[in-house]
Amino acid sequence: MIVVLKPAAEQRDIDAFIGMLKAQGLGIHESRGVGHTIIGLVGDTARINEDSLRAYHIVDNVMRVQAPYKMANRAFHPEDTVIAVGTAEPGCEPVRIGGGSATLIAGPCSIESEEQLTGIAQAVKAAGARILRGGAFKPRTSPYSFQGLGKQGLEMLLAAKKLTGLPVVTELMAVSQLELFDDVDIIQIGARNMQNFDLLKEVGGCKKPILLKRGLASTVKELLMSAEYIMAAGNENVILCERGIRSFDQYTRNTLDVSAIPFLKKESHLPVIVDPSHACGVSWMVPALAKAAVAAGADGIMTEVHNNPECALCDGEQSLTPDEFAELAAVLARYAAVEGRSI
Ligand code: PEP
Ligand code: MN
Repeated sequence: MIVVLKPAAEQRDIDAFIGMLKAQGLGIHESRGVGHTIIGLVGDTARINEDSLRAYHIVDNVMRVQAPYKMANRAFHPEDTVIAVGTAEPGCEPVRIGGGSATLIAGPCSIESEEQLTGIAQAVKAAGARILRGGAFKPRTSPYSFQGLGKQGLEMLLAAKKLTGLPVVTELMAVSQLELFDDVDIIQIGARNMQNFDLLKEVGGCKKPILLKRGLASTVKELLMSAEYIMAAGNENVILCERGIRSFDQYTRNTLDVSAIPFLKKESHLPVIVDPSHACGVSWMVPALAKAAVAAGADGIMTEVHNNPECALCDGEQSLTPDEFAELAAVLARYAAVEGRSI
């Protein structure tokens, strides 16, 4: 349920109103816009009488939100959520995801060595990437495939962060790994864990931004419900990621659901990032999908980049070389600029 307050509502009346709602066991989500304040009510609102709320002199309107996702719903928070990433080190501005820019995230599928990672990190930074990606704990279909360097890989990622100043994003596969993620800037929840509800509740308990990838066969509404799990547990810094879904057609690794971008942007205030690499599975197609995603309104792109794709331990066929990434970044900057956005 949403309560829109009158622009002239005074703070002490708002506080009393919120106190009355909280006393009824409801969760409160307050969103202050330029001219008005919106109060989102979460919990069992079935027993709340809309007319009795309308009777308060500070209340302008009361609406029921039918969708099961409340905190992720744009109705609860009409303005875009902008997520600040990276602990602002002296002289360093945090990277902002959402609200107009098209942020580039790039790096290898898996961290393989310090040399590999730092080389790629420096190259993607020079090309315009604002955030470095790299997997240390890898969800692989086969138990015999490279599983990632684990803790050692995370240490390499943090060393690359220190060297380049780029904030980092990496995947968390299990609650037990969380203690190693203190200096990680964005925690990635991978497609295979999108509905690992215990994991979602756990990352909801920390304040770090969460990059939540859409499950291989999940609907956009299920993606929003998973975001809701994280938000309901206390962490509102959720970034949604469309990374392709399974379809009947097998000519690409997955099928990029471009329509999900405007839909998610309409339904939710959360930023939407697109991963074209896992969507198509082949590097030559990545630029086309990345351009489509920016044109469709994505708040950023996450691509896999490898210095030697042919020898990559994971996902080499879909990895751009640093030169290809630089070329793509220049094109995306032009695409974004058409709409007055920057990368
Ligand atoms: C990844 O980003 O490295 C990854 C494994 O992605 P997904 O969870 O989308 O398959
Ligand atoms: Mn990968």
